[in-house]
Amino acid sequence: MARYTGPVCRLCRRERTKLFLKGERCYSLKCPVSEAVTDRHSRAYPPGEHGRDRMRQGSEYLAQLREKQKARRIYGLLERQFRNLYAEASRQPGITGENLLRLLELRLDNVTFRATWGASRAQARQLVRHGHILVNGRRVTIPSYRVRQGDVVSLKPSSRELYFVRRNLDTLDRPLPLWLEAGENRTQVRVTSLPEREHIDEPVRESLIVELYSK
Ligand code: SF4
Repeated sequence: MARYTGPVCRLCRRERTKLFLKGERCYSLKCPVSEAVTDRHSRAYPPGEHGRDRMRQGSEYLAQLREKQKARRIYGLLERQFRNLYAEASRQPGITGENLLRLLELRLDNVTFRATWGASRAQARQLVRHGHILVNGRRVTIPSYRVRQGDVVSLKPSSRELYFVRRNLDTLDRPLPLWLEAGENRTQVRVTSLPEREHIDEPVRESLIVELYSK
């Protein structure tokens, strides 16, 4: 499946918020949209020649579109994948927006990211793709694979000492979400329940995405 391979900080600037797409750099002063960066060096405005002009525009549709793009970029999905997921969420019982976020969270690349084995979802995706991740003891190399309640996701034993995995585990200060339970020195996590909205900390207003796709 194709994926976006362009400059990712540009995506954050477009959404005018930190999407944490680069791992370690996102937590440093090198982040161009970091609030701690001085005004002179901050580039917290949309990219492109007319980036600063775009800051003044605003409409209901634009807000909905930007919210959808933000969610899509946070989880690293292309438009068609995202739309298919939305269609599935809308067929499920319950609140469509919350269903959508739940389906996004249950992707294997996201679980790998939440387990702090990958510094970013892109790195987590690569771990999955390269066969470092097991689900219930079996290798799964599909980043969109959906985990289920009770599944045990783990690092392959020979991958547990990978330098960047160890470094991520030792340095990343991200708490594990409540729907995951750590085991074996955090080299394995168990899906104890399905994620509820209050357990998903991404800054996404899902109701705007539903409004956009319901038109
Ligand atoms: Fe770049 Fe990360 Fe900052 Fe986004 S949050 S602008 S990806 S450094």
